[in-house]
Amino acid sequence: MKFISTRATDNTAAVTASEAILKGLAPDGGLFIPESFPHLSTSFTLAKGAWYAMYQALQPYFAGDELEGDLEEICRNAFSFPVPFHAEKGKDTLELYFGPTAAFKDFGARFLAFSMEKLLEKRNEDLTILVATSGDTGGAVASAFHGRNHLSVKVLFPKGRVAERQRMQLTGWDGNVTSYEVDGTFDDCQRMVKEAFMDPSLSSLSSANSINLGRLLPQMAYYVYASSMYEVKYGEEAVFIIPSGNIGNATGAYWAKAMGAPIKRIVLAANANRPLTDYLETGDYKPRASLKTLANAMDVGAPSNIERLFSLFPDWESFKANVEAYSVSDDEIRRTIREVYEDSGYVICPHTACAERVRRDKVEESHSVVVSTAHPAKFNDIVEKEIGREIAIPANLYEIMHSESKAKSIEADYRKLF
Ligand SMILES: *Cc1c(COP(=O)(O)O)cnc(C)c1O
Repeated sequence: MKFISTRATDNTAAVTASEAILKGLAPDGGLFIPESFPHLSTSFTLAKGAWYAMYQALQPYFAGDELEGDLEEICRNAFSFPVPFHAEKGKDTLELYFGPTAAFKDFGARFLAFSMEKLLEKRNEDLTILVATSGDTGGAVASAFHGRNHLSVKVLFPKGRVAERQRMQLTGWDGNVTSYEVDGTFDDCQRMVKEAFMDPSLSSLSSANSINLGRLLPQMAYYVYASSMYEVKYGEEAVFIIPSGNIGNATGAYWAKAMGAPIKRIVLAANANRPLTDYLETGDYKPRASLKTLANAMDVGAPSNIERLFSLFPDWESFKANVEAYSVSDDEIRRTIREVYEDSGYVICPHTACAERVRRDKVEESHSVVVSTAHPAKFNDIVEKEIGREIAIPANLYEIMHSESKAKSIEADYRKLF
């Protein structure tokens, strides 16, 4: 099994999954995609639980790879939390927020961390991961890489510009994770990371970007698991409605469908950022600056994974035939959080609310699955106003919210990191 760049014209530069994971981005600047999609094994079983189903979904991508023999252990370690459905009269919600940082990014960050650890162990090499974060990604990466051998992490965040609960998930780490409170903006943090990568005296640096194949493949795997569960439950192929920004989560669903997972329809729900919805309407793809919304983890004006969707559906006609997306305003997000709470007492986060709005307005099937990307307690300042009560912090998230900050304060100069 090999992977090629989205920008490749032939498959002469194809690499293995492990090579793609260590490289991150393809040398030509493109994103790694499978050369062709494997078929789900006929022996696929749900009988051994979620992590094992995800392991089976990943197996063909690692056929002949140096991690082939380690894959089962990596999956058992990485996917060590439940992946439940919450059901309301045929309207299901897939809760992807039982990992350590209470958001779906835990699946990808943890699979990447355990895979990289194995690869470095085999090579007896060490790697330092640099992450600039304005919010959630840093916490997921810090938590996933904490305690992994051969790896250390430096998390950079702008002083005074991340929410208190997010800061508490970034600053309390010890051991191989160090956080840096930078006297500057998020753009300064990103610039520092770029400059460090360009400094020839610094080697063994890497990133844990969301475009890394090691973060995308697990997102394919939970759609194989969830659609198979859904088929057992309703005897139908699944309809997924997916909150989307950088389109990594949704790309996982397209890959699962391409492998033969029982998926009927994939609907993307965006916030007020409209690069995708405008393309569907006009046929003209225009990346742009992002708008700030209540679903801030989806504030993306130039989604990187669009390249992976374009490689699946190269022209506008085939794109329109396969990709469905709707945009949801901040007012609709607020209203939907309220409506769902009033209907059933169920509490959802602002990102999940985008998908729920789309289900209520655009999806006519009697059964469907809204994909819930984060626990509402992560966005308590927005959600509590709508539902009029406090949301308890779930145990998984509480565990990584450290009250004592061990962050180092530094100027916006990358040399202070080393
Ligand atoms: C990252 C994120 C998203 C968007 O996912 P993409 O893969 O970027 O489309 C949605 N919701 C939450 C809570 C996130 O953290």
